[in-house]
Amino acid sequence: MDFNDTPEEAAFRARARAFLETACRPKGEARDSLQKRLTDAEYMAAAKAYQDAKAKAGFAGITWAKEQGGQGQPPIFSVIFNQEEAKFDAPGQPFQIGLGMCIPTMIAFASDEQKQRHVGPALHGQEIWCQLFSEPAAGSDVAGLKTRAVRDGDDWVVNGQKVWTSGAHYSDWGILLVRTDPSKPKHKGLTMFFVDMKSPGIEVRPIHQMSGGSNFNEVYFTDVRIPHAQMLGGEGNGWTVALVTLMNERLAVGGSPGPDYREMLDYARTAAGPDGSSLLEDNAFRQKLADWYVRAEGYKLGKFRTMTALSKGQTPGPESSIGKVITANQLQDITNTAIESMDHYGIITDGSLAALEGAFQQSYMWAPGLRIAGGTDEILKNIIAERVLGLPGDVRVDKDVAYQDLPAGR
Ligand SMILES: Cc1cc2nc3c(=O)[nH]c(=O)nc-3n(C[C@H](O)[C@H](O)[C@H](O)COP(=O)(O)OP(=O)(O)OC[C@H]3O[C@@H](n4cnc5c(N)ncnc54)[C@H](O)[C@@H]3O)c2cc1C
Repeated sequence: MDFNDTPEEAAFRARARAFLETACRPKGEARDSLQKRLTDAEYMAAAKAYQDAKAKAGFAGITWAKEQGGQGQPPIFSVIFNQEEAKFDAPGQPFQIGLGMCIPTMIAFASDEQKQRHVGPALHGQEIWCQLFSEPAAGSDVAGLKTRAVRDGDDWVVNGQKVWTSGAHYSDWGILLVRTDPSKPKHKGLTMFFVDMKSPGIEVRPIHQMSGGSNFNEVYFTDVRIPHAQMLGGEGNGWTVALVTLMNERLAVGGSPGPDYREMLDYARTAAGPDGSSLLEDNAFRQKLADWYVRAEGYKLGKFRTMTALSKGQTPGPESSIGKVITANQLQDITNTAIESMDHYGIITDGSLAALEGAFQQSYMWAPGLRIAGGTDEILKNIIAERVLGLPGDVRVDKDVAYQDLPAGR
């Protein structure tokens, strides 16, 4: 394991930092993020301008081939840029799914002409993409999805419903996984398309979240026509294509934005404990703080191991699934402990009144979603059990049965 940047990596890090200092505000400067201060329309305009500046400065598509408009750099440079960007209030959120998952899938499976048309506008923030996989009865088991596409001349006609589609309400394009052959086992009758989100027959209904926001949606498809040319990876190969998207998703959903043990320590120095003295003097709290510290350090060392592998041109293994299980659970525990310690005041979310300008409350409401998005705790633990520890596989009785013969409502 090597914790130090090579001279080339250090130079890239310095260049990334210099760009970020001109483009955004450091996170510690104020808690009220750009997203909180601006209206939705203002935030979107700022996000598009930031993405364009990033692309022009050579920090977008860092690992993509130069002929795709990328920088042709090894993955370690992308990790370094993400590490530096995480220290700033960078408005990159609307592009995470498109650039993190959809466009890499397009690069792998679309025609040269389609890549020529779509990659550049996405990279420069002109077009936003969403991922249309999950359905009401198909999330962890996404291969069990029902949305149906039937061939009609040069088009496919799609009917069904997706759910939890992040950003569908502002997306221009989406990648869509559908069932094209119910007579095959569930993984084998799927096909991937990309779809214009403004197509007639698509209805996007925002879902209101407990945090007050509406980041994801239900998306209904009624006789939506998609040209055959917009199929990705060939008929019946949707699962193979989806695995490419999901692999990128697991890499993209790595961190945990929100207060960590250091911020908890700062907060505890001035907060009151259960007996009225400092929270920091409370033994039960001190025990928790020590646990968070140990887990955070373990996670940091695990990330160094991933970075060392990337730096040597190797591919990180399934152990990268461990990161999200640790950070998402830790975020929920830290924010829960902070809010409990505030007693009745814990329910105050107003940033001008609450500790850390309401960051504990905001992250408390986001943490459960983080434990689900990009693979739930249980699914990631299955991956760790099977692929890291070599334990016997989960029971999968429906693997070889034709989808249409599965005993489920459809
Ligand atoms: C913030 C957020 C953003 C999202 N964005 C998108 C998006 O943009 N596009 C998209 O397509 N989807 C998106 N999703 C959906 C997400 O992929 C699913 O919610 C997730 O895969 C879980 O599926 P589910 O909600 O149907 O839960 P289920 O799969 O029904 O799981 C319910 C419970 O059963 C457990 N469980 C399921 N299977 C097993 C098993 N084999 N072993 C043990 N336990 C099991 C789960 O861990 C969970 O606790 C998003 C979700 C969130 C929270």
